[in-house]
Amino acid sequence: MPNYQHLLLAVDFFDHTQMVAQKAKLLADTYQSQLSVVHVVENATLVEPDFCSPLQLGMDFTAALADNAQQKLNALKALLGLADNQVYLEFGRPASEIIRVANEIKADLIVVGSHGRHGLALLLGSTANGVLHHAACDVLAVRLPDD
Ligand code: AMP
Repeated sequence: MPNYQHLLLAVDFFDHTQMVAQKAKLLADTYQSQLSVVHVVENATLVEPDFCSPLQLGMDFTAALADNAQQKLNALKALLGLADNQVYLEFGRPASEIIRVANEIKADLIVVGSHGRHGLALLLGSTANGVLHHAACDVLAVRLPDD
């Protein structure tokens, strides 16, 4: 069993984020490894041409999402006892950004949640799937309960 040095936990703040976070924390404590967290805000561009420019509206909406995400990240940071430099708020495509941060911080294990999708959803791809197939390091997919 490898002795992981730096775990990167990717959180989407949907259901079960705390459960995945607690597992990542337990792993990091067990391995005595560093733990970092990343959340990616997807660029949201709303098109409402009669109201105001799509660019302006899209930017405002993304900023609101970012504010909301920052608050949730702050709460998670406190819960996990992390420092500022262990928390990453990024923008863009979640799978690409998670992998970029993992490479940047030299993470050797990425922890994601997984709904265990199959069929069409798997063909269309999911974030967990994208990370799993393109990461340079190990990936732990924590199975999320089906609600
Ligand atoms: P999904 O494949 O979209 O169902 O998401 C599965 C897992 O990917 C989530 O439990 C998170 O670990 C990660 N993930 C999805 N979206 C994001 C995001 N925007 N930022 C960070 N991690 C994410």
